Amino acid sequence: MTGSGASDDDDAALRKMRFLFNLRSRGVTDARVLTEMERVDRALFVRGLFLERAYEDTPLPISCGQTISQPSVVGIMTQALNVGPRDTVLEVGTGSGYQATILSGLARRVYTVDRHRRLVQEAETLFRHLALTNITALTGDGSYGLPEQAPFDRILVTAAAEDPPGPLLAQLKKGGIMVLPVGQSDAVQSLIKVTRTETGYDYDELRPVRFVPLVGGVAAD
Ligand code: SAM
Repeated sequence: MTGSGASDDDDAALRKMRFLFNLRSRGVTDARVLTEMERVDRALFVRGLFLERAYEDTPLPISCGQTISQPSVVGIMTQALNVGPRDTVLEVGTGSGYQATILSGLARRVYTVDRHRRLVQEAETLFRHLALTNITALTGDGSYGLPEQAPFDRILVTAAAEDPPGPLLAQLKKGGIMVLPVGQSDAVQSLIKVTRTETGYDYDELRPVRFVPLVGGVAAD
Protein backbone atom coordinates (compact mmCIF):
# COMPACT_ATOMS: atom_id res chain seq x y z
CA MET A 1 0.00 0.00 0.00
CA THR A 2 1.31 3.41 -0.89
CA GLY A 3 -1.57 5.65 0.17
CA SER A 4 -2.17 7.17 -3.28
CA GLY A 5 -4.76 5.70 -5.64
CA ALA A 6 -2.62 6.03 -8.78
CA SER A 7 0.38 4.34 -7.12
CA ASP A 8 -1.83 1.50 -5.83
CA ASP A 9 -2.96 0.91 -9.42
CA ASP A 10 0.69 0.97 -10.55
CA ASP A 11 1.61 -1.56 -7.83
CA ALA A 12 -1.23 -3.87 -8.88
CA ALA A 13 -0.25 -3.62 -12.56
CA LEU A 14 3.38 -4.37 -11.71
CA ARG A 15 2.41 -7.38 -9.58
CA LYS A 16 0.27 -8.73 -12.43
CA MET A 17 3.11 -8.22 -14.93
CA ARG A 18 5.53 -10.11 -12.67
CA PHE A 19 2.96 -12.87 -12.12
CA LEU A 20 2.53 -13.36 -15.88
CA PHE A 21 6.27 -13.07 -16.52
CA ASN A 22 6.94 -15.86 -13.98
CA LEU A 23 4.34 -18.08 -15.65
CA ARG A 24 5.83 -17.54 -19.13
CA SER A 25 9.41 -17.98 -17.98
CA ARG A 26 8.46 -21.32 -16.34
CA GLY A 27 6.95 -22.67 -19.54
CA VAL A 28 3.30 -21.59 -19.52
CA THR A 29 2.84 -20.35 -23.09
CA ASP A 30 -0.74 -21.34 -24.01
CA ALA A 31 -2.61 -18.06 -24.62
CA ARG A 32 -5.97 -19.36 -23.30
CA VAL A 33 -4.38 -20.56 -20.07
CA LEU A 34 -2.47 -17.28 -19.61
CA THR A 35 -5.64 -15.26 -20.22
CA GLU A 36 -7.56 -17.26 -17.58
CA MET A 37 -4.72 -16.97 -15.08
CA GLU A 38 -4.57 -13.22 -15.65
CA ARG A 39 -8.35 -12.96 -15.16
CA VAL A 40 -8.63 -15.03 -11.96
CA ASP A 41 -7.32 -13.14 -8.92
CA ARG A 42 -5.33 -15.67 -6.81
CA ALA A 43 -5.66 -13.35 -3.78
CA LEU A 44 -9.33 -14.38 -3.47
CA PHE A 45 -8.22 -17.94 -2.65
CA VAL A 46 -5.62 -17.07 0.00
CA ARG A 47 -6.28 -15.84 3.55
CA GLY A 48 -4.72 -13.73 6.30
CA LEU A 49 -0.96 -13.44 6.53
CA PHE A 50 -0.43 -15.12 3.17
CA LEU A 51 -2.52 -12.61 1.23
CA GLU A 52 0.46 -10.39 0.48
CA ARG A 53 2.24 -13.38 -1.10
CA ALA A 54 -0.71 -14.31 -3.36
CA TYR A 55 1.10 -13.29 -6.57
CA GLU A 56 4.36 -15.07 -5.76
CA ASP A 57 5.15 -18.27 -7.64
CA THR A 58 4.93 -20.39 -4.54
CA PRO A 59 2.46 -22.80 -2.91
CA LEU A 60 0.76 -21.29 0.17
CA PRO A 61 -1.06 -22.80 3.17
CA ILE A 62 -4.89 -22.94 3.16
CA SER A 63 -7.40 -24.44 5.64
CA CYS A 64 -7.21 -28.09 6.84
CA GLY A 65 -3.38 -28.14 6.61
CA GLN A 66 -3.52 -28.19 2.79
CA THR A 67 -1.96 -25.93 0.14
CA ILE A 68 -2.93 -23.87 -2.88
CA SER A 69 -0.52 -24.99 -5.61
CA GLN A 70 2.28 -22.89 -7.11
CA PRO A 71 0.82 -20.77 -9.99
CA SER A 72 3.36 -22.00 -12.56
CA VAL A 73 2.49 -25.63 -11.71
CA VAL A 74 -1.24 -24.80 -12.06
CA GLY A 75 -0.40 -23.28 -15.47
CA ILE A 76 1.73 -26.23 -16.63
CA MET A 77 -0.92 -28.76 -15.55
CA THR A 78 -3.78 -26.81 -17.16
CA GLN A 79 -1.78 -26.40 -20.36
CA ALA A 80 -0.97 -30.14 -20.49
CA LEU A 81 -4.66 -30.94 -19.98
CA ASN A 82 -5.50 -29.10 -23.25
CA VAL A 83 -9.10 -28.38 -22.21
CA GLY A 84 -11.64 -27.57 -24.92
CA PRO A 85 -14.80 -25.46 -24.51
CA ARG A 86 -17.09 -28.51 -24.78
CA ASP A 87 -15.20 -30.63 -22.25
CA THR A 88 -16.42 -32.04 -18.96
CA VAL A 89 -13.54 -32.00 -16.48
CA LEU A 90 -13.03 -33.76 -13.15
CA GLU A 91 -10.59 -32.21 -10.68
CA VAL A 92 -9.52 -34.32 -7.70
CA GLY A 93 -8.34 -32.06 -4.86
CA THR A 94 -10.47 -28.89 -4.74
CA GLY A 95 -8.27 -27.26 -2.08
CA SER A 96 -8.86 -23.51 -2.30
CA GLY A 97 -10.91 -23.74 -5.53
CA TYR A 98 -8.32 -21.76 -7.53
CA GLN A 99 -7.53 -24.49 -10.08
CA ALA A 100 -11.24 -25.32 -10.51
CA THR A 101 -11.99 -21.63 -11.19
CA ILE A 102 -9.36 -21.54 -13.94
CA LEU A 103 -10.75 -24.76 -15.44
CA SER A 104 -14.30 -23.36 -15.34
CA GLY A 105 -13.26 -20.59 -17.75
CA LEU A 106 -11.91 -23.15 -20.24
CA ALA A 107 -14.39 -26.04 -20.01
CA ARG A 108 -18.14 -26.58 -20.37
CA ARG A 109 -18.51 -28.19 -16.94
CA VAL A 110 -16.18 -28.84 -14.01
CA TYR A 111 -16.68 -31.33 -11.18
CA THR A 112 -14.27 -30.93 -8.29
CA VAL A 113 -13.97 -33.22 -5.27
CA ASP A 114 -12.06 -32.96 -1.99
CA ARG A 115 -11.92 -35.21 1.06
CA HIS A 116 -12.24 -32.14 3.38
CA ARG A 117 -15.86 -30.95 3.65
CA ARG A 118 -14.68 -27.58 4.97
CA LEU A 119 -12.55 -26.91 1.88
CA VAL A 120 -15.47 -27.82 -0.39
CA GLN A 121 -17.78 -25.45 1.52
CA GLU A 122 -15.28 -22.57 1.40
CA ALA A 123 -14.68 -23.14 -2.33
CA GLU A 124 -18.45 -23.24 -3.01
CA THR A 125 -18.83 -19.87 -1.28
CA LEU A 126 -16.18 -18.42 -3.62
CA PHE A 127 -17.75 -20.02 -6.72
CA ARG A 128 -21.09 -18.40 -5.78
CA HIS A 129 -19.38 -15.03 -5.17
CA LEU A 130 -17.78 -15.28 -8.63
CA ALA A 131 -21.12 -16.40 -10.17
CA LEU A 132 -19.51 -19.56 -11.59
CA THR A 133 -22.45 -21.76 -12.48
CA ASN A 134 -20.56 -24.52 -14.31
CA ILE A 135 -18.67 -25.91 -11.27
CA THR A 136 -20.05 -28.61 -8.97
CA ALA A 137 -18.01 -29.20 -5.80
CA LEU A 138 -18.45 -32.44 -3.85
CA THR A 139 -16.99 -34.00 -0.71
CA GLY A 140 -15.56 -37.49 -1.16
CA ASP A 141 -12.56 -39.68 -1.75
CA GLY A 142 -11.58 -38.59 -5.25
CA SER A 143 -9.44 -41.68 -5.85
CA TYR A 144 -12.72 -43.38 -6.80
CA GLY A 145 -13.65 -40.54 -9.18
CA LEU A 146 -17.32 -39.71 -9.61
CA PRO A 147 -18.97 -42.75 -11.22
CA GLU A 148 -22.36 -41.01 -11.53
CA GLN A 149 -20.91 -38.09 -13.52
CA ALA A 150 -18.37 -40.14 -15.56
CA PRO A 151 -17.02 -40.44 -18.18
CA PHE A 152 -14.83 -37.32 -18.33
CA ASP A 153 -13.00 -35.68 -21.24
CA ARG A 154 -10.29 -34.48 -18.89
CA ILE A 155 -9.18 -35.40 -15.35
CA LEU A 156 -6.76 -33.36 -13.24
CA VAL A 157 -5.44 -34.72 -9.95
CA THR A 158 -3.79 -32.22 -7.63
CA ALA A 159 -2.48 -34.66 -4.98
CA ALA A 160 0.11 -37.39 -5.53
CA ALA A 161 -0.70 -41.11 -5.76
CA GLU A 162 1.90 -43.85 -6.15
CA ASP A 163 0.18 -44.90 -9.39
CA PRO A 164 -2.72 -43.50 -11.40
CA PRO A 165 -5.87 -44.73 -9.55
CA GLY A 166 -7.72 -47.44 -11.52
CA PRO A 167 -11.19 -45.86 -11.17
CA LEU A 168 -9.88 -42.59 -12.64
CA LEU A 169 -8.34 -44.40 -15.62
CA ALA A 170 -11.67 -46.19 -16.15
CA GLN A 171 -13.66 -42.91 -15.99
CA LEU A 172 -11.56 -41.21 -18.70
CA LYS A 173 -13.21 -41.13 -22.16
CA LYS A 174 -11.36 -42.60 -25.15
CA GLY A 175 -9.24 -39.74 -26.51
CA GLY A 176 -9.37 -38.17 -23.03
CA ILE A 177 -6.40 -36.81 -21.07
CA MET A 178 -5.55 -37.10 -17.37
CA VAL A 179 -2.72 -35.10 -15.75
CA LEU A 180 -1.49 -36.12 -12.30
CA PRO A 181 1.56 -36.27 -10.02
CA VAL A 182 2.75 -39.81 -9.24
CA GLY A 183 5.32 -41.03 -6.74
CA GLN A 184 5.94 -41.36 -3.02
CA SER A 185 4.62 -38.50 -0.90
CA ASP A 186 7.96 -37.77 0.81
CA ALA A 187 9.99 -37.66 -2.42
CA VAL A 188 10.07 -35.65 -5.62
CA GLN A 189 7.24 -36.94 -7.81
CA SER A 190 6.70 -36.97 -11.58
CA LEU A 191 3.96 -35.04 -13.28
CA ILE A 192 2.54 -37.37 -15.91
CA LYS A 193 0.04 -37.06 -18.75
CA VAL A 194 -2.09 -40.12 -19.50
CA THR A 195 -3.94 -40.25 -22.84
CA ARG A 196 -6.63 -42.90 -23.30
CA THR A 197 -6.38 -44.41 -26.79
CA GLU A 198 -8.72 -46.82 -28.59
CA THR A 199 -6.77 -49.76 -27.20
CA GLY A 200 -5.16 -48.62 -23.94
CA TYR A 201 -3.30 -45.73 -22.34
CA ASP A 202 -0.21 -43.70 -23.36
CA TYR A 203 1.96 -42.23 -20.61
CA ASP A 204 4.20 -39.13 -20.93
CA GLU A 205 6.43 -37.87 -18.14
CA LEU A 206 6.30 -34.04 -18.02
CA ARG A 207 8.48 -32.79 -15.14
CA PRO A 208 9.39 -33.30 -11.47
CA VAL A 209 6.89 -31.84 -8.96
CA ARG A 210 6.08 -31.99 -5.26
CA PHE A 211 2.47 -32.41 -4.11
CA VAL A 212 0.67 -33.38 -0.90
CA PRO A 213 -0.38 -37.07 -0.97
CA LEU A 214 -3.69 -38.42 -2.23
CA VAL A 215 -5.13 -39.74 1.02
CA GLY A 216 -7.82 -42.43 1.18
CA GLY A 217 -11.23 -41.81 2.81
CA VAL A 218 -13.18 -38.68 3.73
CA ALA A 219 -11.60 -36.43 6.40
CA ALA A 220 -13.35 -35.62 9.69
CA ASP A 221 -13.43 -31.86 8.95
N1 SAM B 1 -6.25 -27.70 -6.56
C1 SAM B 1 -6.12 -27.03 -5.28
C2 SAM B 1 -6.19 -25.54 -5.42
O1 SAM B 1 -6.41 -25.03 -6.53
O2 SAM B 1 -6.08 -24.87 -4.38
C3 SAM B 1 -4.87 -27.46 -4.54
C4 SAM B 1 -4.98 -28.85 -4.07
S1 SAM B 1 -3.97 -29.31 -2.72
C5 SAM B 1 -2.37 -29.28 -3.40
C6 SAM B 1 -4.40 -31.05 -2.69
C7 SAM B 1 -5.82 -31.32 -2.24
O3 SAM B 1 -6.08 -32.70 -2.44
C8 SAM B 1 -6.08 -31.05 -0.76
O4 SAM B 1 -7.11 -30.12 -0.62
C9 SAM B 1 -6.47 -32.41 -0.21
O5 SAM B 1 -7.48 -32.34 0.78
C10 SAM B 1 -6.98 -33.11 -1.45
N2 SAM B 1 -6.99 -34.57 -1.38
C11 SAM B 1 -6.02 -35.42 -0.95
N3 SAM B 1 -6.44 -36.71 -1.08
C12 SAM B 1 -7.68 -36.65 -1.64
C13 SAM B 1 -8.63 -37.65 -2.02
N4 SAM B 1 -8.41 -38.96 -1.88
N5 SAM B 1 -9.80 -37.23 -2.55
C14 SAM B 1 -10.07 -35.91 -2.70
N6 SAM B 1 -9.22 -34.92 -2.35
C15 SAM B 1 -8.04 -35.30 -1.83
